[in-house]
Amino acid sequence: MKSIPIRQCIVCRKRSEKGTLFRVIRTPENQILFDPMHKMNGRSVYLCKNVACVQKAGEKDLIGCAFNRTASAELYMQIANALQSEKKTSVGTLIGFANRSRKVIKGMTGIAEGAGKKKIKLLIIDSETQPTTRKRIESISSKQNIPLIVYSNERSLSDILGKANCRCVGITDDRFARSILRQI
Ligand SMILES: [Zn+2]
Repeated sequence: MKSIPIRQCIVCRKRSEKGTLFRVIRTPENQILFDPMHKMNGRSVYLCKNVACVQKAGEKDLIGCAFNRTASAELYMQIANALQSEKKTSVGTLIGFANRSRKVIKGMTGIAEGAGKKKIKLLIIDSETQPTTRKRIESISSKQNIPLIVYSNERSLSDILGKANCRCVGITDDRFARSILRQI
């Protein structure tokens, strides 16, 4: 049986599968570098791909401490950016799953109708949504007490949903809604 490599987060000390963690290395020339593909040579440290561990590491320069030097602000910025794009990807992926399981209502008209029937658990708009649509969705969200998130990524909502010019979607399934909200 092949064993799965496990590494410890330098911040929270939790042990996780290597592939699920961020890797930072110190080169033989004493440079500290972010290694997103886990491919560079050097002494390495790992940290969880979550906001709490990335933030704490940055505040106390825990990566620098682990290597007995100072890590640059740019390094922490790179890690924060990587964290953000991974989250966005997974929100997009989850919306795609919900779409494939037909747990979505696409477009303004359907959303207004579905919200009236208490079918919608989560509202999602695109950063490109027209102001008028956005206002209507915001008002549905506050009147019906449905959480609302703004999704922004290179892969647009209409792309994910396979519907041209679709800039708003309602998630009708509780579990999908909760897992999307957990990614935010
Ligand atoms: Zn951690």
